[in-house]
Amino acid sequence: MQNHSSGLKLESWLVTAGRSAEPGAPLNVPPIPASNFILGQGRSYARTDSTPTWEALEEIVGGLEGGHAVAFASGMAAVAAVFDQLAAGALVAIPDDCYQGVAGLAMAGAARGRWSVQRIALTDTAGWQQACAEADLIWLESPSNPLLTVADLAAICAAPRKPGAIVAVDNTFATPLNQQPLAFGATVSVQSATKFIGGHSDLLAGIVTTRDETLWRQLQRTRALTGATPGTLEAFLAVRGARTLAIRLERAQRNALTLAQRLEQHPLVTRVRYPGLPSHPTYAVAKRVLKGFGTIISFDVRGDATVADAVCRNVRLIRHATSLGAVESTIERRAAIAGQEHLPPPLLRLSVGIEDGDDLWEDLDNAIRAAN
Ligand SMILES: *Cc1c(COP(=O)(O)O)cnc(C)c1O
Repeated sequence: MQNHSSGLKLESWLVTAGRSAEPGAPLNVPPIPASNFILGQGRSYARTDSTPTWEALEEIVGGLEGGHAVAFASGMAAVAAVFDQLAAGALVAIPDDCYQGVAGLAMAGAARGRWSVQRIALTDTAGWQQACAEADLIWLESPSNPLLTVADLAAICAAPRKPGAIVAVDNTFATPLNQQPLAFGATVSVQSATKFIGGHSDLLAGIVTTRDETLWRQLQRTRALTGATPGTLEAFLAVRGARTLAIRLERAQRNALTLAQRLEQHPLVTRVRYPGLPSHPTYAVAKRVLKGFGTIISFDVRGDATVADAVCRNVRLIRHATSLGAVESTIERRAAIAGQEHLPPPLLRLSVGIEDGDDLWEDLDNAIRAAN
């Protein structure tokens, strides 16, 4: 895929974008820890006028997603900024399976009477198409967390919409390298840059990208009014992380497919969910809408929560930790998380990193066998 403005492949854009062309300027935009600037022209205050460090990140991710980006303090701050665009009494559609923070935000707003929430199965394409005609915010997440269901974004985003409706896609699991929601016709694409963009488990950041210039300005205004600004060091680190996104993803994705295939053959594993496995219910859709199948696997070990918890304790190379999308592999039992109790008790979510694939398999296999 190519970047619209530069004609470069996204893999090259990642490496080169977000830099000054001025002779004598630092090659990379440095962390600029400024709250205020000398008055006269241009910027006056960071919260309202942005900083060059944030803008470097926005240029890179905006170019990847194919729109104008606004960086936020976290993925949830980015999500909340999209919800902030709604008028009182709006109708919001969210998936049956999605990040628990997003479901929590939607339900908390509904409980306060701000909007009402409808939940739709990600596989129910007709249900989503109908929601496009009726709802004010159509919130999709694909592949979903943690069941890795892939929605038919091409078909959903093409459906006729209620005037002013926002179709938002949480593109965190796919990354803009594997999926381009704006090209399908989504209004906004959202990244928790904490995950793949940063890629090193050392920052929180979020990014919303849109092709709608009015909405872009409104999102900037929301950031200024709510103060959900990215940290200086965080934005700098996210840029540094983004430079290697393509090779990290390529390597981790290769590892993930191998691990998913091996897990499927494992006598102590009852179910494996990975978008790239033909056994996954949305495999046919995934092949159509995704360029790559990602690095997240969820699988059920034979037995109950106790066995799954033991697997998490037994891993050595893989780390027992939440979050995902980083260079290191992490594993977690998701039903242990507040708001995720409905999931199968022995479901483990594995975020596959860039370690050697055979080392990862040996660690995982040992941990599963020792847990039984
Ligand atoms: C982590 C995550 C978020 C929230 O991002 P934070 O940076 O933790 O605030 C939203 N959506 C998805 C899919 C995520 O994985």
